[in-house]
Amino acid sequence: MLAYTYIEQGKFELQERPKPEIKDSRDAIVRVTLSSICSSDLHIKHGSVPRAVPGITVGHEMVGVVEEVGDAVTSVRCGDRVTVNVETFCGECFFCKRGYVNNCIDSNGGWALGCRIDGGQAEYVRVPYADQGLNRIPDTVSDEQALFVGDVLATGFWAARISNISEKDTVLIIGAGPTGICTLLCVMLKKPRRIIVCEKSIERIRFVREHYPQVLVTEPEKCKDFVLQNSDYGGADVVLEVAGSEDTFRLAWDCARPNAVVTVVALYDKPQLLPLPDMYGKNLTFKTGGVDGCDCAEILRLIEAGEIDTTPLITHRFPLHKIEEAYHIFENKLDGVIKIAIENR
Ligand SMILES: [Zn+2]
Ligand SMILES: [Zn+2]
Repeated sequence: MLAYTYIEQGKFELQERPKPEIKDSRDAIVRVTLSSICSSDLHIKHGSVPRAVPGITVGHEMVGVVEEVGDAVTSVRCGDRVTVNVETFCGECFFCKRGYVNNCIDSNGGWALGCRIDGGQAEYVRVPYADQGLNRIPDTVSDEQALFVGDVLATGFWAARISNISEKDTVLIIGAGPTGICTLLCVMLKKPRRIIVCEKSIERIRFVREHYPQVLVTEPEKCKDFVLQNSDYGGADVVLEVAGSEDTFRLAWDCARPNAVVTVVALYDKPQLLPLPDMYGKNLTFKTGGVDGCDCAEILRLIEAGEIDTTPLITHRFPLHKIEEAYHIFENKLDGVIKIAIENR
């Protein structure tokens, strides 16, 4: 089968690889119908994910059809259309039982697919702990509608869930990339009084204005003043930092009102400064990433009910054999790209 493979720092290559096989009774083999490219794939390519193993198939956002299941798998059957979770988790350890599945103590717990074990920018993928890692897609939900459930949408859902948002709140979301927009969609479900999105790219500002006209939009340089003008108590009640740029961590806590919740969803390239003297007396609560991806069934239910729609994020489509071209566009942010669907048909 074709599989997009991490060769070494700076180099991915489409290779012919053997089709994966069941290794454990809790595994499933999924025939990938659609996958996508995530900025975390680029982090691997650029060498900023030290745990990534050269030689693995990359890709951790995908949907497909169950092809084969191990004897111990009970929640899915051959022929089921499924979403695949970015995280591998056992469902039984201390952390899993409390919903902190990102911290599952299994040796492959957390983000393993497409990083430490073979992922889904391929024709087939082996999914460990299939009862946890796969969710059945309702018949009325298309593959494209479900494509982001296991990764970026799970992240947005989790970020909104842990941020204690109420209907009286002004919520600031920093960053309107794919994860930022997924976060926005999930924050909207909480019906806060105001949502402000801060983004620097003109194209992405235009995207937010076009699709979500009820949302206020500002740019990084004007953000703090804008938030002060559009909030009731000297800053946002909740801030979600999804950008991960040079100055956005500082911007996040600076735009928060006293006693606000600041949720850091972003993955940074460098350490960030936490200048406690500057924020003394502000009594902030910080929450940090990464995602506990255990809400996929609920997210699929919301998609089925028409309450979440991420299909506008898919701006480009490529067949797997042209994935190189897709990476070129995604990596260089060409042609207004937000997300690319890689099709296996
Ligand atoms: Zn990802
Ligand atoms: Zn676990």
